[in-house]
Amino acid sequence: MDTIFSKIIKREIPADIVYETDEILAFKDIDPKAPVHILVIPKKPIPTINDATAEDAELIGKVILAAKDIAKSLGIAESGYRLIMNCNKDGGQTVFHLHCHLVGGRQLAWTPG
Ligand code: AMP
Repeated sequence: MDTIFSKIIKREIPADIVYETDEILAFKDIDPKAPVHILVIPKKPIPTINDATAEDAELIGKVILAAKDIAKSLGIAESGYRLIMNCNKDGGQTVFHLHCHLVGGRQLAWTPG
């Protein structure tokens, strides 16, 4: 199924892209919740983390490593940040293309809810 993120991958809609490889894309969240709020996605359209298989292990590892590299390049590696993957309704997922939120640039509260 085509999502807004697959349209960003295909350059059908614009995004502020900060990182790209043949397998991974990262761009600024359109509605940032912190000074740094980047979405890191695999180009492969996996709808939710529930749909990931053992075959996707390396790809999902690359998503996390890309987030780490982006955090470093944006200068928040030492101050710290949070990586978040929301899943389905209770997780607050709204775009059904697997993505990892990289959030930082300020002290984050720890109160999921
Ligand atoms: P989630 O709620 O975990 O599914 O996260 C989806 C995220 O995508 C939200 O934080 C939205 O603000 C973000 N988003 C939706 N549309 C766009 C877009 N066109 N460009 C960038 N970020 C977007």
